Amino acid sequence: MSDGLLAQLVVALSQRRVRIVDLTQTLSPEFPQIVLPPEMAQAWPFRLEEASRYDERGPGWYWNNFSCSEHTGTHFDAPIHWVSGRDLPNNATDTLPLEDLIGPACVMDCSRQAAADPDFLLTADHIRDWERQYGRIPPRAWFLMRTDWSQRRDPVAYQNLDEAGQHTPGPDTSAVRFLVEERDVVGFGSEAIGTDAGQGAHLKPPYPCHYYMHGNGRHGLQCLTNLDLLPPTGAVIICPPLKIRQGSGSPLRVLALVERSA
Ligand code: MN
Repeated sequence: MSDGLLAQLVVALSQRRVRIVDLTQTLSPEFPQIVLPPEMAQAWPFRLEEASRYDERGPGWYWNNFSCSEHTGTHFDAPIHWVSGRDLPNNATDTLPLEDLIGPACVMDCSRQAAADPDFLLTADHIRDWERQYGRIPPRAWFLMRTDWSQRRDPVAYQNLDEAGQHTPGPDTSAVRFLVEERDVVGFGSEAIGTDAGQGAHLKPPYPCHYYMHGNGRHGLQCLTNLDLLPPTGAVIICPPLKIRQGSGSPLRVLALVERSA
């Protein structure tokens, strides 16, 4: 019993030989929200309303009501989010495979390129170069693109909008197709506000990460943070979205388990 896999994990956690890293941004009304062109429907930002705080509204308890979009803060994109995934089986937050929500993470450091060029596009060749150094991406892994974008604490710098739209790094079509078709990843994670680059509308197809990931039953995570605390390989991430009936995604807590090197 005590030498079972889960027992070993519990011991490793208690001894801090396995560390828990929080990849989640704090939900607050100030956290930047995706902005669509004005003719489109908009996502609700996070709103919090105090119901009671040990007062006449509820003398013994504190609690809040909140509202937000499914796509607010650090959040999960399910396949049903995109038109390419609309008819897939098990494509919504209440039906997607649980096995996809705990798995190995491959973390590619693109922070230098993103600092030099906010429109940096990750290509399949870049990922092949990463594999030469760190090994082949295993099947059913999460691929996380580290850009240090989450370290932009100023919302204006985080959004990085101008008259041409948003300027944030992301994958190009070759990278997404390589990850899905040749490496069978479970999903793609980003520190920016979307899994696609800010200028992803101009790629073919538009928003290739959404198009190919969700069209193939894969998922997205965005507004991640602390990716700089993860090793390139070896971390395990845990990322179950809220079980919203026919949900297209949800805010969530994303945790990574990281083994402390001996
Ligand atoms: Mn989203």
